[in-house]
Amino acid sequence: MAVLHNRISQRELKERLYQEKEPRKTISFYHYFPIEDPKQFRDDLYKRLFDLKVFGRIYVAHEGINAQLSVPESDFENLKACLNSIEPLDGVRLNIAVDDDGKSFWVLKIKVREKIVADGIEDTSFHMRNKGRYLNPEEFNQLTNDRDTIVVDMRNHYEYEVGHFVNAIEVPSDTFREQLPMSADMLADHKDKKIIMYCTGGIRCEKASAYLLHRGFQNVFHLEGGIIHYANTVKEKGLENKFLGKNFVFDDRLGERIGEKIIAKCHQCGKSADTHTNCANDGCHLLFIQCEDCAKQFEGCCGLECQNALHLPEDERKSIRRGIDKGRNVFNKSKARLRPKFKPGIE
Ligand SMILES: [Zn+2]
Ligand SMILES: [Zn+2]
Repeated sequence: MAVLHNRISQRELKERLYQEKEPRKTISFYHYFPIEDPKQFRDDLYKRLFDLKVFGRIYVAHEGINAQLSVPESDFENLKACLNSIEPLDGVRLNIAVDDDGKSFWVLKIKVREKIVADGIEDTSFHMRNKGRYLNPEEFNQLTNDRDTIVVDMRNHYEYEVGHFVNAIEVPSDTFREQLPMSADMLADHKDKKIIMYCTGGIRCEKASAYLLHRGFQNVFHLEGGIIHYANTVKEKGLENKFLGKNFVFDDRLGERIGEKIIAKCHQCGKSADTHTNCANDGCHLLFIQCEDCAKQFEGCCGLECQNALHLPEDERKSIRRGIDKGRNVFNKSKARLRPKFKPGIE
């Protein structure tokens, strides 16, 4: 029975995962579609995925589903059949992780949420029914050749900083909630233009496209499957690659190079660099860009203060750590880069 899971410790579940002989595939997908009763949907889905030995983290809301999961390879086809049997999910795009050991999840969790992507939108007339048009990578390349097209990056500033599409503009905020109204305001004088939004996997820009339509924009597009799908397709089909630099990913690699070019600079010395790192001082842990030379000189720290702290005895470090506000500890250069008024075509 499914409920038994709660009585088994996390450690034991993890051990079980590592004892599994069969490799797992790691998969992610999302889909916006109206779910009348998210709780009922959740319970039904849980039973079916539990039987397929699926592990993962899934969010269900009135607006749709967002899932990251792993499945034993021999059950992959069954999983597809299961999803296809749920009508709105028939044919949903499954992103299959490459270079993955399938050990990212050891339990199945499906949670009911207010939204699958928190958006802060309070206007009840906003709806995900009316979305921008999907662009595949070929169409994206074509449409971005048009001078009347504006490309908008809907990711965080530190993602934009190390890699983005040619001529893409950033929406300089730390949170998606702030970015939504900000993007509409920034583009207010360009309602006649074609606007393409993109993000890492497509889930944020799809919502952003619906939001712009809601705000009265007419020609709104978004890149299907996001940068991940674009990068894969460009490689597979030998298309022109319009993505410059690195695609930031939230795992140990902190970024996957797509093009050859390095477009960012070391936050300490200004030399060309695009390696994100977390400050080696645990009490700080700031996310910033550091070149190899500075990494050596500062021992992976963001500055002298942290480097000194690194060499204090453990108990002294602990007491300092307690006093530090961790907050959103990200090096924010984006606000400094914000131009007073955005002009298309000028970079
Ligand atoms: Zn440096
Ligand atoms: Zn630091």
